[in-house]
Amino acid sequence: MAREIFDELGVYRNAVTWNSMISAYTRNGDLIAARKLFDRMPQKNVVSWNSMIVGYAQNGQSELAINLFKEMINEQLITPDEVTMASVISACGHLGALELGQWALDFTTSNRIKLSASVYNSLIFMYSRCGCMNEANKIFSKMETRDVVAHNALITGFAAHGNAVEALKFFERMKDENVQPDRITYIGVLTACSHSGMLDEGKKVFLSIEAPDIDHYACMVDLLGRVGKLDEAKRIIEEMPVYPHAAIYGSLLSASRIHKRIEIGEFAAKKLFELEPENSGNYVLLSNIYASAGKWREVDRIRGLMKTRGLTKTSGWSSVEHDRKVHRFTVGERSHDLSDAIYEKLAEMKRKMKGAGYIADNSSVLRDVEEEDKEEMVGTHSEKLAVAFGLLVSEPGTVIRVMKNLRICRDCHTAIKMISKLEGREIIVRDNNRFHRFTDNVCSCNDYW
Ligand SMILES: [Zn+2]
Ligand SMILES: [Zn+2]
Repeated sequence: MAREIFDELGVYRNAVTWNSMISAYTRNGDLIAARKLFDRMPQKNVVSWNSMIVGYAQNGQSELAINLFKEMINEQLITPDEVTMASVISACGHLGALELGQWALDFTTSNRIKLSASVYNSLIFMYSRCGCMNEANKIFSKMETRDVVAHNALITGFAAHGNAVEALKFFERMKDENVQPDRITYIGVLTACSHSGMLDEGKKVFLSIEAPDIDHYACMVDLLGRVGKLDEAKRIIEEMPVYPHAAIYGSLLSASRIHKRIEIGEFAAKKLFELEPENSGNYVLLSNIYASAGKWREVDRIRGLMKTRGLTKTSGWSSVEHDRKVHRFTVGERSHDLSDAIYEKLAEMKRKMKGAGYIADNSSVLRDVEEEDKEEMVGTHSEKLAVAFGLLVSEPGTVIRVMKNLRICRDCHTAIKMISKLEGREIIVRDNNRFHRFTDNVCSCNDYW
């Protein structure tokens, strides 16, 4: 209906009409229609550009948001404002693109664009997502007034790094500053406790929440699962006042994998197969639980289940930023310009690792390939390619930052730990769950993820 009116308006359309129509499309997730209109718009103002850039960013199209921003500044007709910059900087955060984010900040200051609260909040988010908690903290300290969003960005950042001590410190500070914690704050603090296994602190925080919602229960289940109290976690699920959602069973399932509790894993998986029958990740997790217990017949049964339900594994990818470009890798891919060099580097790393006692761990491969192919597949997982690429193109001694869309597998985790020592590099991998900071053969997650 909005579009009908828009079309009927004809010559009476002005910038506001166009911008409203573009926003209407992006809010409905129809980015293609929005872009078509945007490209046709006769005289774009800053709001038009922002509608499109924010539209991309809020629909998870970070790269498109940044590309459009680059077009905007190349045209030099319209100067970006603080709304543009907040959106671009947070898009950089989503991509884990630190160089780009820093460049966007430089652009903001050198063009005297207002450093609004939302620009600051985006900066905290961006630095946290790129693993630079010191920088995030610096930005936070520079703010004159900090709202709940700023506090949450920092606390959530520390949580993702498994740094519960800092998360709790800032949680206290927030209360000192009379900023009321909201549900996101509590999720952040509980996640921090969970990622570092602080059960008592976590319980205390949980009990202090006036009306805990389902996500807070989920954090508690996660925390109990992490410290191995799976029976207590299961009891919470059975007794909670709200109907448990998939994520709750999901964390119970991953805890079962880590603590090798097959029966609880089966309980969680059964619920998950009902709640989200299409999510292949659950099948893979359960099959990994069976695989590490050597129950190959069960592994085959799960594989059959996936087949009859027409499911395939979500394909993993990992990305590394270099020269303000995001380079994305998928398992075994050879389409990158530097592919030959990357595979050579990979082979070299493997030789060094074998010399240091590394044995490939194939237990997390869903058995859909023959035994002898398994090492080859695991050997070219996207995160390994990304790290090899990072080692190739970055200066010695610099940090390598990798983003991954799925949970990092056991073998890659072991391999990257060793690489961090052998190459003398700090390597940060942000997977879909948390940060892994690898230095000197140790990971910040203490091998629990
Ligand atoms: Zn892997
Ligand atoms: Zn780790």
